[in-house]
Amino acid sequence: MLASRATTSGDAANGADGASRDAPVRDRGDPDAGPLDHDHEPAGAKHLTAAVALVGVSKRYGDVEAVRDFTLEVEPGELLVLLGPSGCGKSTVLRLVAGLEHPSEGTVLIGGTVVNDVDPKDRDVAMVFQSYALYPHLSVRQNIEFPLRSRRAPARRRRELVDEVARGLQLERLLDRKPAQLSGGQRQRVALARAIVRRPAAFLLDEPLSNLDAQLRLEMRAELVELHARLGTTSIYVTHDQVEATTMGQRIAVMHEGRLQQVGAPRAVYERPANAFVAGFVGHPPMNIVPARIGTAELARTGARAPGSAGAGAGWDAERYPSGPSARAGESAGAAIFAGGEIALSPELVARVRRRNLDHVLVGIRPEDLHPDPKGAVSATVSLVEDVAGYQQLSCRLGTGQLVGASAIAGGPVFRTGEAITLSALGEPHLFDPSNGERVDS
Ligand code: ADP
Repeated sequence: MLASRATTSGDAANGADGASRDAPVRDRGDPDAGPLDHDHEPAGAKHLTAAVALVGVSKRYGDVEAVRDFTLEVEPGELLVLLGPSGCGKSTVLRLVAGLEHPSEGTVLIGGTVVNDVDPKDRDVAMVFQSYALYPHLSVRQNIEFPLRSRRAPARRRRELVDEVARGLQLERLLDRKPAQLSGGQRQRVALARAIVRRPAAFLLDEPLSNLDAQLRLEMRAELVELHARLGTTSIYVTHDQVEATTMGQRIAVMHEGRLQQVGAPRAVYERPANAFVAGFVGHPPMNIVPARIGTAELARTGARAPGSAGAGAGWDAERYPSGPSARAGESAGAAIFAGGEIALSPELVARVRRRNLDHVLVGIRPEDLHPDPKGAVSATVSLVEDVAGYQQLSCRLGTGQLVGASAIAGGPVFRTGEAITLSALGEPHLFDPSNGERVDS
């Protein structure tokens, strides 16, 4: 799978660069590219000011709908990360922007100009691929200057530009080598240099770090972010790695099955995932998502503590976790209930669930918000214990048989596999509608 993706990308890279051999990059304001093409879906003012925009774009390959009704604006100078599992359509979106694919429906704009009918060579974008797509018979210098040659830049100017870009990417001492004499990281730097030297309006980066080992990937992530800060070029970065996405992206756009699920700053997406898919995909370890029915808190009736109050609610240790959701005195707290456990819900959240006429929900709790607690209302058995700098990360089996992640606070008791424990959740849980995965309080 990985190999075939790499091959496809490599061909596309050669095609894009090869195609640009004879023609200069067209000015983004080129009137030939036309104003808004009203044969395509009309674009709003926001699409016109965006560096790159897709409006209602779909792409079908026979029966496969790779991209579905996709609308996204990338702001000038922004580093936007397109994130989603393998096969969700990320590369197709990038290839649609590059012009390597044509939309079945919808409009693609670059710099406010519709480019649906503009050749890849005439779009002012540069693509960088996981496979590097370097020419093996050319030296590093020749590889980097290739796009400048195709644009017929004078030799002296080419030399200056290559030297400048090579300096910025620590490639100066490697300029006479062939790609086979470079490490993976160095090859990826050359591929980046080749994209940068063109000074395009936008960089399109398709999983550029996937072939690198973990340590190098970390370093290159930092380098790419620094490079973006220095150049300020609009960039769309595709990855299936949510850690990469959330550490690098100014905004992340999460995709699933061809559709855009949510766009926003990484923290905003993490804190308020729009649906159960995003909730489970963004965050490491992933959010626990537990099917439950809505009911009255069992422990409320037996006198356990309520969220932020005394008397009503379930499984809430207000002394230990004082920042929990508040329940006003006298209000009955509900709970999300499943085999062997319940999670207290604030009256506000219960009201929202009722408004949607739901009697079942998907409860989302991040492992960092689920803790062993002798007074907890969730019974579980410890399956796996991982010691992480100062705390224990636990995998616990619920009464339902589901495995959930939890974390044991530093300095507390040490947990062992097979131990029966109780857990309680910190903060208000996320709730999703089981019928469509939508966030209940959206
Ligand atoms: P991602 O980049 O998220 O891994 P892709 O955009 O490569 O996903 O692919 C999205 C879907 O479209 C997948 O189901 C893939 O098999 C299909 N697809 C991509 N390119 C083609 C093609 N040229 N022909 C047929 N199906 C394709």
